[in-house]
Amino acid sequence: MEKIKQRILLLQQTLHTHNHRYYVLDNPIISDFEFDHLLKELEVLEEKHPQFLDKNSPTQRVGGGITKSFKTEAHRYPMYSLSNTYSKEELLQWEDRLKKVLGEEVALEYTCELKFDGVSISLTYEHGILVKAITRGDGGQGDNVTTNVKTIKTIPLKLQADFPDFFEIRGEIILPWEGFRKMNEKRFQLGEELYKNPRNTASGSLKLQDSSLVAARPLKCFLYSLVGEKLPVFSQIDALEKAREWGFKVPNSAKCVSSIDAVFEFITFWDEKRKTLPYEIDGIVIKVNSLLLQEELGFTAKAPRWAMAYKYKAEQAFTVLKGVQYQVGRTGAITPVARLEPVVISGSVVKRASLHNADQIEKLDLRIGDTVYVEKGGEIIPKITGVNIAKRTKVNSPIKFLKECPECHSKLIREDGEAQHYCKNDQYCPPQQIGKIQHFIGRKAMDVEGLGSETVGLLFNEGIIQNILDLYKLKKEQILPMERMAEKSVSNLLEGVLKSKAKPYHKVLFGLGIRFVGETVAKRLSEEFISIERLSLATFEELTNTDEIGDRIAQSVIDFFSISENQILVKSLKDFGLQMETVESSKNFHIAFTGKRFVVSGVFTNFSREELKTEIQLLGGKIVSSVSSKTNYLIAGEGTGPSKNAKALKFDTTILDEKSYIALKESS
Ligand code: AMP
Ligand code: ZN
Repeated sequence: MEKIKQRILLLQQTLHTHNHRYYVLDNPIISDFEFDHLLKELEVLEEKHPQFLDKNSPTQRVGGGITKSFKTEAHRYPMYSLSNTYSKEELLQWEDRLKKVLGEEVALEYTCELKFDGVSISLTYEHGILVKAITRGDGGQGDNVTTNVKTIKTIPLKLQADFPDFFEIRGEIILPWEGFRKMNEKRFQLGEELYKNPRNTASGSLKLQDSSLVAARPLKCFLYSLVGEKLPVFSQIDALEKAREWGFKVPNSAKCVSSIDAVFEFITFWDEKRKTLPYEIDGIVIKVNSLLLQEELGFTAKAPRWAMAYKYKAEQAFTVLKGVQYQVGRTGAITPVARLEPVVISGSVVKRASLHNADQIEKLDLRIGDTVYVEKGGEIIPKITGVNIAKRTKVNSPIKFLKECPECHSKLIREDGEAQHYCKNDQYCPPQQIGKIQHFIGRKAMDVEGLGSETVGLLFNEGIIQNILDLYKLKKEQILPMERMAEKSVSNLLEGVLKSKAKPYHKVLFGLGIRFVGETVAKRLSEEFISIERLSLATFEELTNTDEIGDRIAQSVIDFFSISENQILVKSLKDFGLQMETVESSKNFHIAFTGKRFVVSGVFTNFSREELKTEIQLLGGKIVSSVSSKTNYLIAGEGTGPSKNAKALKFDTTILDEKSYIALKESS
């Protein structure tokens, strides 16, 4: 037993170190494969010997803990806000105030840091172990979000080196641009409303109830301030260095300088350079470097006197709102777009700005003819941030959101709890029809060579195609007369369409554009329901019993197949020869495995768990994660948990040990 405990402790420590090297130092020394291997070993040991399971074990990073409601807790040390300014003038005045308190003769040093644009968090460590994570809240008390925060891999669960027994550390949880774009790309594919900016998305993430969803988001945490008593540091710049040594992610952009002019240089340098950062900053934070002087300066009711945030101005201009247009997306979502008197913002002409939805228009109380502020911030599309009421000349009435679809005149619907209005005429509303075909031929779906989105629009407008099916009926003589359609491009197009018939079933399924069925969901459904006929007959329960398929997806699939036009479409596509079932290696399927559900648990002598799972799938079986009434087999290796065994007995699931599994495989 002692040996096992030692092994678990060693694995935990080793994995903490590798995590730190990978996420904090960006300098891994073992491969992902080796890492996963160690992690698996630890998982198995912890499952078998739960008495050694540590709440901060590296195995806990994947989340899974559910928080129904977040408890409010008082901060031990209040979380102040920062005084801020947009002008260098005011920074000079700040320095004057500092000197008044500290004396003219004192040599002032400043640390300049980037002001990360995310959500602030306070982390408490006791004896080197993360025990608590609280949001800023109102500064006096915040929400306890520890379960979610533990899934953020740049936050160490256990510290290294010479940390104090008790301290708090503050930082900013951010979502880098790349992760933000990826998340939005997914939402776009699903026809869902896009996240507005990384900051809101990061802050929303901390309040998700299911921590495994948080784990899946590429959040990071940058630390910038130590709080506590008897800390082993004398200056802010040392504090940053120490935090780094203990294992925290502290970007090395911070700099200690000894004059306000050097502060200005730092500000100017980063004003340009920030545009190349992989994450957003909204300014620079300047702090008096000496902690002794900081103490002498103290706090106002709201903010420390020893720090100042210099904020970069979002590039902004004002112009006149000429009108509002409404765009209809592939899913029927209506997006209002402001038409503006053209204006130059940060070097480019802006004529349009997003208005998001009806609430946004109402919030701004917009009227046509208003002079509006337009901002080009981190987001891709400029936005209207306010109205100059003083410039409102005639009293126009507020903008009334459209009642009918601008394209097909169906009544617009806004469902409870949704921000967006929808045109529900998804069969015959032109932009929805075009959008569906464009989605179908897209790179991630059928990837039809020789046919682009623009051509789809042209073909549609010419009345040559109306839906996906028409693509497969296309004839050369229909396309040739069109402008810019040479013989060569026509034959490329037709060949591309023909070739697409070989694209696998899951691509077709994704291409159909069923709401909430993105690439991964399509793949999952195609594995579970191996033909489209089977899927069209699936019940809500069957669907939701599938790993990774929730209520929303299940309902959407059912709705899709309940529409007769969709049934006809699917049937006709099949008749045209598109792939409508999973065929992969079905010739190797084993009769005893085909369509059966397997749970694999424990460790084996002849193969690893992963190898075993792959083998089962190749033989036609399905892997599920927990034993339920639908599970056919529990393959129980060494150390399978007692609860799995008990469930298997309850549900009449056949339990096979390694030997009997091999026997089953070799049976014919
Ligand atoms: P504000 O929210 O504009 O009052 O600015 C204060 C917030 O800036 C703090 O609560 C922190 O969350 C955030 N912040 C970002 N980067 C830093 C940094 N390097 N030092 C201190 N605060 C920072
Ligand atoms: Zn419409």
